[in-house]
Amino acid sequence: MCYNNHMTFLRANKKFERFEDVKPEILQKENVKLLLCDLDNTLRLHSEKEPAEELADWIAECKKAGVQIVIISNNGRKKMMQKFCEPIDVPCVWWAKKPMSKKLTEAMEEYKISPKNTVMLGDKWSTDVLAARFANVRAWKVNHRRDVVK
Ligand SMILES: [Mg+2]
Repeated sequence: MCYNNHMTFLRANKKFERFEDVKPEILQKENVKLLLCDLDNTLRLHSEKEPAEELADWIAECKKAGVQIVIISNNGRKKMMQKFCEPIDVPCVWWAKKPMSKKLTEAMEEYKISPKNTVMLGDKWSTDVLAARFANVRAWKVNHRRDVVK
């Protein structure tokens, strides 16, 4: 019984293969106005130093659809994060300490968007999905992206 509850608690509300599959039409249909995104292994591989073209395109499409994006990462490398997020013009929060939900709540307050219009998108249950639960927002999960070792 306990196990079941635990699984439900950690279950993502929607699952996608990759961030590109979170289409602007889906965001609009689901009334998402604020999309909080994890960075590492969600929007980029850990090794990517610059935003990929697909990411820049996707961000632009989401913005066009009226969706505010904020990157909320547990990564503590402030300069790296600022450098990565500047060209795509997306606000970023580093050292977010997910699963603590404080930074998610702060972003909703800053943009004055309610939890029901907010989604947390990430690759990890223990941080992203849990943080979404604590912030009372929907959790959407992408498959963890891994660096391909050649
Ligand atoms: Mg991640």
